[in-house]
Amino acid sequence: MEVEEALRERIAGMERRISNLERLVRVSLMLNSTLSLEPLLETIIQVIIELTETEDCSIMLLDEKTGELRFRAARRMRREELEQIAVPLDNSIAGWIFRENKPLLIRDAQKDTRFYQGVDEKLDFCTRSIIGVPLQVRGRVIGVLEAINKRGDKEMSWEDVNVMTALAAQAAIAIENARLMEELRMAYEKLHELDRLKSDFISIAAHELRTPLSLILGYASFLRGSATGQASEQLDIVLQSAMRLNSLIGDMVNLRHIETGEAQLELGIFSLNDLVRVCLQEFLSLIRVKQQTVGLNLPSPPLMIEADRQKLHLVLGNLLSNAVKFTPAGGRIEVLACEREGKAWVAVRDTGIGIPRKEWERVFDRFYQVEPSLSRRYEGMGLGLSIAKGMVELHGGRIWVESEVGKGSTFVFHLPLTQSPGGA
Ligand code: ADP
Repeated sequence: MEVEEALRERIAGMERRISNLERLVRVSLMLNSTLSLEPLLETIIQVIIELTETEDCSIMLLDEKTGELRFRAARRMRREELEQIAVPLDNSIAGWIFRENKPLLIRDAQKDTRFYQGVDEKLDFCTRSIIGVPLQVRGRVIGVLEAINKRGDKEMSWEDVNVMTALAAQAAIAIENARLMEELRMAYEKLHELDRLKSDFISIAAHELRTPLSLILGYASFLRGSATGQASEQLDIVLQSAMRLNSLIGDMVNLRHIETGEAQLELGIFSLNDLVRVCLQEFLSLIRVKQQTVGLNLPSPPLMIEADRQKLHLVLGNLLSNAVKFTPAGGRIEVLACEREGKAWVAVRDTGIGIPRKEWERVFDRFYQVEPSLSRRYEGMGLGLSIAKGMVELHGGRIWVESEVGKGSTFVFHLPLTQSPGGA
């Protein structure tokens, strides 16, 4: 009879363990899928209290600034109390567990010299027994998990320690992930706000700069008309600089329009051959100064497309300007256009300095320049390609670059030959 009784008890014990394990597995799965810190901590506490049959459970994480352990969750504390109560690393059980990176089982906390009375005093609570385990991620201890006061007349056991250790390993990773996620979210929010401020700034600055600039341009070209000798050369420089400033402001405004979705296509049907020729013409004097050679390969008969001519002019202008700028004297610039797979293709090829593979995508980011602006040999704001990309994509097309450092770059884009109503 006694044997039967003992057997039954053993079976009951094993069943309890299996059910605990099942619970642990389920909680582990849940911990892995939750990225929100507060509900995650609540669940961990709830499960520990149930599995260890204790009155409470606390999660303390190291506060890197003060070097103390700070409560992040505990059932016996209100939210505002959590924030106020800290446990020192010296002379506390949690501090010992943290520093030694070992679990601890204490059946009579009041008699343990390491016990820190501060928390009980503030909460008017009496801690009798404690199990504590370190929370660690990749070998680094980030906090301590404690179960407090076994319920009924049972005693804390090493089986409880095992349950907590198993859960602590999962919980620590989940806590760390949630923390990283929170940091990322905050960084994103900040970035978003900065982006908005920048966009507002560009819009105001562009507006304020344009009025005085148009006056400068107007008066300078008026004076240029009647000036002679040295004065006319000086006025040419004033005009050129003012025009450059005007185009920089134009770039900023264009980019803002693309970003805010204000940019719209004004469609017309025109010859792509013609547009390429007109754009190239604008750069011929610069190309001549740099003694570069030019190649042109255009389809015959001319390729007619339906697109926004002014915007494509800007795209080609930016690509050509870069090709000339980043190609040393004596280099070669080629422009190719053709029709393929129902699309218009354009390539601008140069024998310039080239772009490293890892930068091929980033050069299309706004303000991005391969060479940092302060040490730059080439002028520019890093906006041309992002505007070109925005304009091509507005047409439902794609733009990319292939390049070899020291050999040259080829920028390619393609667009649909016609724009379907309501956008591409
Ligand atoms: P910007 O020319 O004003 O700097 P862009 O957006 O037009 O800005 O170009 C971004 C960067 O991409 C350039 O600063 C340069 O580092 C690189 N780049 C663009 N075109 C070329 C090219 N044809 N050859 C080499 N590098 C280029």
